Amino acid sequence: MNTEFIEALEQENLNAIRRLPKSDLHNHFVLGGSRNYLKEYTGRDIQPIKKPLQSMDEMHAWNSKNIGDYFNSPEGRRILIRATFEQAKEDGVSILEIGEDVWGLGEFFHGNIEELVEVFETTHKDIAPEIELRLQIGMSRHCDIAYLEDCLSHFLGCKAFYSIDLYGDELAQPIENFKSIYRRAKAEGLKLKAHVGEWGTADDVRRAVEYLELDEVQHGIAAVDNPSVVRFLADNHIRLNITPSSNYLLGRVKDLKAHPIAELYRSGVDVTINSDDVLIFDSDVSKEYLRLYQSGCLNAQELEDIRMNGLKKI
Ligand SMILES: [Zn+2]
Repeated sequence: MNTEFIEALEQENLNAIRRLPKSDLHNHFVLGGSRNYLKEYTGRDIQPIKKPLQSMDEMHAWNSKNIGDYFNSPEGRRILIRATFEQAKEDGVSILEIGEDVWGLGEFFHGNIEELVEVFETTHKDIAPEIELRLQIGMSRHCDIAYLEDCLSHFLGCKAFYSIDLYGDELAQPIENFKSIYRRAKAEGLKLKAHVGEWGTADDVRRAVEYLELDEVQHGIAAVDNPSVVRFLADNHIRLNITPSSNYLLGRVKDLKAHPIAELYRSGVDVTINSDDVLIFDSDVSKEYLRLYQSGCLNAQELEDIRMNGLKKI
């Protein structure tokens, strides 16, 4: 147990928290960048939301006001990738799992998978080579399966990738539809992840883990509503990559003190603490640890245990 981290939390010293290694395993790089870097580089002053959103329309409105089409170009995409490494470095993140959505390959990298990988790897090397980069393949849940399979065929077989994730509207189509994609990804040796149990139910979490043979779940917090699902996750060592401020600001939890991460952790579930979308939620990983401590959700020892857990590979 590292007493330095415990002391940093007890002293509520954000800079000291930033100095110690942490993982960020749930980060959508498009909104994961450094506010300061983007302001300096583009002149855009992107402000996070301060209070819980009442609807997804407000989220879309925030997006079009702050991001819009401004970064919707090969150069824009590269700025966002750079901003994300700058952010991780400022935050003291030592393991960063990020990647491109499959549709982005044609849009921003001329359909050339080597170019895509090289942009991430050279940016990594230039800005923060000390960080362990885990490159992820991302898919949106609303996309047609045949379209996703077609896009994916360019990614699969490329050894640079570590994991695959599914996000977007959790209710867009049944998880069963993705089974064949996840079978292929598993055969490639990728870690299998998906966003479930943010808007959906505990049963949705269990079904997704069983159908897709997930190793990790992004969110998964709804599991807390069903003790048998919590036990299932703990017994099968399924990791939940949790994003507390995002859950609060999207109205998934009433406040941070009541965040289910405490009950999940105390029930033996493998949990980690992550940023999700720094630019909108002001949720860099160090702040997430501090907020969970200050709210009384988890104590300093528990947070240290979770930090160390996130540094372990599963
Ligand atoms: Zn997410």
